Amino acid sequence: MHIGCPKEIKPQEFRVGLTPNAAREAIAHGHKVTVETQGGVGAGFSDEDYIEAGAAIAGTAAEIFAAADMIVKVKEPQAVERKMLREGQLLFTYLHLAPDPEQTKDLLASGCTAIAYETVTDAQGGLPLLAPMSEVAGRLAPQVGSWTLQKANGGRGVLMGGVPGVGPAKVVVIGGGVVGTHAARVAAGMGADVTVFDRSLSRMRYLDDVFSRDFKTMYASAGNTIEMVREADMVIGAVLIPGAAAPKLISRAQLSEMKQGAVIVDVAIDQGGCFETSKATTHQDPIYDVDGIMHYCVANMPGAVARTSTIALGNATMPFMLALADKGWRQACEDDAHLLNGLNVHAGQLTYFAVGKALGMDV
Ligand code: NAD
Repeated sequence: MHIGCPKEIKPQEFRVGLTPNAAREAIAHGHKVTVETQGGVGAGFSDEDYIEAGAAIAGTAAEIFAAADMIVKVKEPQAVERKMLREGQLLFTYLHLAPDPEQTKDLLASGCTAIAYETVTDAQGGLPLLAPMSEVAGRLAPQVGSWTLQKANGGRGVLMGGVPGVGPAKVVVIGGGVVGTHAARVAAGMGADVTVFDRSLSRMRYLDDVFSRDFKTMYASAGNTIEMVREADMVIGAVLIPGAAAPKLISRAQLSEMKQGAVIVDVAIDQGGCFETSKATTHQDPIYDVDGIMHYCVANMPGAVARTSTIALGNATMPFMLALADKGWRQACEDDAHLLNGLNVHAGQLTYFAVGKALGMDV
C-alpha cells in the first residue's frame, strides 16, 4: 500500500501523523511511504530523517493526496485537504465529526473511507488513541500551572514543593481519569500537596490502592469540592462525561472565594471547560485573569510539546496503521472490532451512530 503523510496545516499544529520510525516499520512491511517536505519539522524530524528511514519526500500535499492509498494525519482534514480526498482512499486521523457538519458533508461527498482515532476502542473500554494525548495534557498541567503560579506571571508566588520550613502548594485535581491521574502524579512529584476529586468510587479505590503515598482522593460532591478549592493554590479541571459538554463545577461567584493569584488549569476546556469562567485560549496567549484568579485554558495542550506528543501518538497509532496497510481496511476491521469502532465514514455513508445522532443524519 502507498501511505501518504501530508504536513499539518491547521494553525498551531506542529505534530505529524507518521514518525520516521513508523515510516521505517511500514516500509519493512513492504509498503511505500511518502511524507510532505518539512512535514515533521515541527516535531523535530527532518526530511533526511524520513529519507534515512526509506520514505520518499513530496514537494506538495497535492502530490500525496493524488498518489497515496492511505492518508495518515493528526488533525481533521481542513477544507482544502478535503477537496483532495478521493473515492476509495483511506483516511486515518483525528476527525471529531460530531460538532463539525461541514467536515462530515465533505468527507461523505469525497467517497473516502475515514477511520477516526478518537473512536477506536480497546478491550478495557478505553480510547487507546486519545489516551496518549490525555497523558501528555495531564503531565503538562502542573508544569504550566506552576509557571503561572509565579508572581511575575500573575500567580500567588507559591513554589510547588515549598522549602524546608515552608509548606508546599495545595493542588486540587477535579476528575481522576487519565488526565487527572497524570496531573496528580506530576504535581505530587514536584512536592505539592495534592487531592484528586472524582465521582467514581471504583476509580477512587484504584487511585487509593496505587497512589495513596502520592496524593489523597475525595468524593466530588459540590460541598467537598468548593471547600478544597477555597484553600487551593492550583485547581486542575480534568473531568469528562463521555459524549457531553463538561459540567460547570465552579461558578463565577465561587471564584471570589478562592485565594487571590490562585491558578486554574482547565484541561477539560476542549469539552467546554468545567469552570464557568473558562474560555479557550491558545499557546500564543494562554493565560487570562478573572477576578484575580489566573486561568490557563489552552484547548490543544499537547501541541506545546509536539515532539513528545507526536512520538506518543505514533506509538499508539502504529499497530493500527500497520494492520490497515497490511490487510486493507475491510479485513483489518473485520479482524478487530475495536478498529472497526473507528470507522466513521465509508463510500458516502456515515457509519458511526453517535455522530449521526449528533448531526441528525442517517447512519
Ligand atoms: P477520563 O474519562 O479518563 O477521566 C474523566 C474523569 O472525570 C473520570 O474518572 C470521571 O469519573 C470523572 N468525572 C466525571 N464527572 C465528574 C464530576 N462531576 N466530578 C469529578 N469527576 C468527574 O478522561 P480524560 O482522558 O482524563 O480527559 C479529561 C478531559 O481532558 C476531557 O475533557 C478531555 O477532552 C480533556 N483533554 C484536553 C486536552 C487539552 O489539550 N486541553 C488534552 C487531552 C484531554
